[in-house]
Parts: sequence; structure tokens; C-alpha cells
Amino acid sequence: MGCSSCTCSCGGCISPPGSVGIIGGGIAGLSLAALLAQRGNRVTVYEAHEPGGKLRRFTHEGLRFDTGPSLFTFPGVWRRLLSRLVEADPLDLRPLPGGLGTHHTPFGSVPLPVPTAHPLYPHWRRYVDEVAPLLPHVETLLTTPPHLTSAAFLRASTALGRVTFPHPSAESWLRSRRFPPALHHALAVHSLNAGVGPGQGSVLYALLPALMAGDVSRPAKGMGAVLDALLAFCAARDVQVLSQTPVTDLRELAHHDRIVSAVDPSRLARLLGERVPDRPLTVSGVALYARLPEHLRGRLLVTSVVTPSDYARFAAAMQVRALPPDTLALVHADASLSDEGQLALLLTAPASGRAYAVDHPWVQGQVRRVEEVLGVSGLLSGDAGVLALTPEYFVRGGAVGGAIYGQAWPAWRSGPFHPQPYRRSGRLWQVGTGVHPGGGLPAVLGGALIVDRLMNRA
Ligand SMILES: Cc1cc2nc3c(=O)[nH]c(=O)nc-3n(C[C@H](O)[C@H](O)[C@H](O)COP(=O)(O)OP(=O)(O)OC[C@H]3O[C@@H](n4cnc5c(N)ncnc54)[C@H](O)[C@@H]3O)c2cc1C
Repeated sequence: MGCSSCTCSCGGCISPPGSVGIIGGGIAGLSLAALLAQRGNRVTVYEAHEPGGKLRRFTHEGLRFDTGPSLFTFPGVWRRLLSRLVEADPLDLRPLPGGLGTHHTPFGSVPLPVPTAHPLYPHWRRYVDEVAPLLPHVETLLTTPPHLTSAAFLRASTALGRVTFPHPSAESWLRSRRFPPALHHALAVHSLNAGVGPGQGSVLYALLPALMAGDVSRPAKGMGAVLDALLAFCAARDVQVLSQTPVTDLRELAHHDRIVSAVDPSRLARLLGERVPDRPLTVSGVALYARLPEHLRGRLLVTSVVTPSDYARFAAAMQVRALPPDTLALVHADASLSDEGQLALLLTAPASGRAYAVDHPWVQGQVRRVEEVLGVSGLLSGDAGVLALTPEYFVRGGAVGGAIYGQAWPAWRSGPFHPQPYRRSGRLWQVGTGVHPGGGLPAVLGGALIVDRLMNRA
């Protein structure tokens, strides 16, 4: 039976509404705030800086940049959030030309999804067919509490097991399929969605290109529209979002009935006075944002991916927090986003917590490598300055060493589908990156849907 003061339409709330304090106003904290407020809770979000976390709207030298994600995937998860909030979709999602982009590997270039006329298409088709049984279950897995009593969850987990068994890692699964080296190398790069190399990442990440089924988009007004939408949903439900309000002691939140940590679990551990477990870290990055230079308009694809030449060497460097000789680079050149066009160059870097400036020799070397591979020059020569976000910046957002996905999990539990420590104790809960490792926005939004449901049935 539904709780009488609940304002949502699920009819299944058991916990009476009360006061909830959420630590962290990133995408996870804001989406959960809106969901809990929808159920009649009084919600306050405490944000150390400005809302958005890794997805922020920055103005730099007169230009507006949306930082963090550039690809919006698994839109069904977003639609489930809208449905729970009874909101129309404000995003106006536009398909990104070229889908996941052209992947430049040492064995040749591979557009993903592979077009029918491409010589690798038959192998891509075989890959897509193998992954197909999992397709109907992905949204369920991303948005359903992993309970063994849930028939939908069991069906989805069985489908996942059938596709991936008995392989412990993305690399092992790919090797067993004997794809041509260029396709193998291009698919393997997607294990970086878990922040680790293909030898460490779960098989699931090697399946992502097929599971996304070419449905890669971005809001017409840029990824910042996701943040704008969540802030509007929060405002409409009287959520208090307090900027520049870091939580330094959990006792500050003692007056709330329930507390949710939407910050990196290692930061929560510190707030609880616990020792941070000694686990390897996921990767960090150097994210460079600039005006799209005039001479490159129309010459660059929207998304280009330049892979590391050797994943084992790359992963070994990341593990000891050293700079790899060559790294994963994602170039996102969006001429349609504003009058000026925007260029984002994201270089994967170790979670060293260091500030590698644009003129750092390693950064310069990687930019030159990307230019050579793409056959262009002057990538960062747009007439405004370059905004550089480095591992040091990501440390300020709360992650040890600036690790974008927090500490690394072993492959067997590194997907967003494994039971996570959602509930830390009676009234303390967790959501967001690190609790739903990898996967970016879909995992974080799906995690908020899961935790909202669990909290209201606890
Ligand atoms: C360069 C880059 C590219 C990416 N590309 C993609 C992509 O293409 N597609 C995709 O889906 N995902 C992508 N992602 C991942 C995606 O951006 C993240 O998964 C998501 O934004 C994480 O949201 P979050 O709320 O869990 O964490 P965060 O964004 O880290 O939010 C945590 C918030 O907590 C605040 N905080 C920390 N400590 C405290 C404290 N003590 N008190 C109060 N507040 C505190 C921080 O300031 C921050 O605002 C990318 C990320 C990066 C960095």
C-alpha cells in the first residue's frame, strides 16, 4: 500500500517522507534529490563548489564550455528518470553523426558502429549478433535493484552470463572471439569506460559498442542541458541546492532523517574517519577545451578516438601512476554547438593528482600524436585560450588522485550491475560514481533510480 503523504505516482512507497541531506551536487546527487523530493521528502543538497561535478558549464575567455561527458548514451535510462518524475523531456536529443566515432588503432581505422560497406562489417555483424540477446535487458540491469528475488533482474543477469561466461575480462572475451586486430583493438578501448584497461575491465565494457546500438546523441544545447534540466527538476520540487557548502563533518547533517553520500566513496570514508582501502585507482584525465579552429571546421569528424598503441603498457603505466608513452585520446569537434564551435580533447592520464598544464611536454607530445594520426595541425590554435582540467582539478571534486571512476574494482564486480554498498548503515546511503563504477551518466542516473527505490522501501 502506498504511503499517504507520498506525492509520487508509484503507489509503493513504504518509508514516510522526511528530511534528506545529500552530500555532493553532481549528476548523481541532483538526480536522486529530484527523485526523493518527488516522493515528498524535504531535500537539501550540499555542494562543495558549483552544482554539476564533472559536468559543469564553464565560461572561459568569453566562450562557454560544457565539461566532462560529450556522448549521451542509453537514453532509455534518462527516460525512466523522467517517467518517475512525471516530466516531459527537455533535452531535445540529437543523434551524433558518426555514432561512437572513428577509432584510430595501430592496425587501421574503424568507425563504430561499422558501416555496411566497410571491410570489417561481417566481423562487426558477428559481434553485434553475439551481444544481441543482452540488448532487451540492458535498461533493466542499469535501473533495477540487483535483488535475486526480482524476476527481471534474474532474466537480465542470466542473459549477461550467457554472453560473457566464462571470461573474466574484456580482453579475454575479445581474444576468444578472434576478431581482426583493428576491430579487437577498437572494441577493447571501451573498457576505459570503467576507467581500467581491457585486461582489468569486465567483459561488459567490451560489449558496450553493440549495446549502445548506435544510439549516441547529445542535447541540442550541449551536455550542460542535462545539468540545467536536473537543476530545474530540483527547483520545481523545492530542493535546496547549497553551492560552496562543503561537508567536512557528518555531524553537520545530523538534523536530517537520512543522509546520502553522492561523493566518491573514499571521500565518504574520510568523513567517517575510516581508513581508505588500498585499491588500485581508475584513470584520470587532462581535458582540454578550446574554440574549434576555423581551418578545421568540416575537416574533423564529430568524434575521433585515438587508442593507446599497447594496452598492457598503457595499463601498467596507469597502475603506477606514470605517464604512458601514448594514451587514449578522444577528440570531440562540435561545429554546431555554438557560433564558434567547440573542441574537446580528452587525454587519459594517470590518477596522480598532478596539474599537467597545456605546455607540459607530455601533453604537448600527446597533442602532436593526435594531430599526426588525424592528419591535421593546430588543433588547439583557436583564438581563445585553452581551458585545461587536470587530475589536480578532479582531486578537488573529491576523487583520490583525480581518479574519474574512483577506486578500481576487480573485473567480476566492476560493472554497474553488481550489488553495490548502497546502504552504509541505518540512515546513511550512497549513490554516484564509485558506487556504480564505470558507465558514466547512464550508470549514475540508473544508480539514482535504484537508490531512490531502495530508500523508499527500507
Ligand atoms: C573528461 C570526462 C569525460 C567524460 N565523458 C563521458 C561521456 O562521454 N559520457 C558519459 O556518460 N559519461 C562521461 N563521463 C563520466 C560522467 O561525467 C560522470 O560519470 C558523472 O558526471 C559523475 O557524476 P557524479 O555525480 O557521480 O560525480 P561528480 O560529478 O564527481 O560529483 C560529485 C560532487 O560532489 C562534490 N563534493 C565532493 N566532496 C564534497 C563534500 N565534502 N561536500 C560537498 N560536496 C562535495 C563535488 O564538488 C562534485 O560536485 C566523463 C567524465 C569526464 C571527467
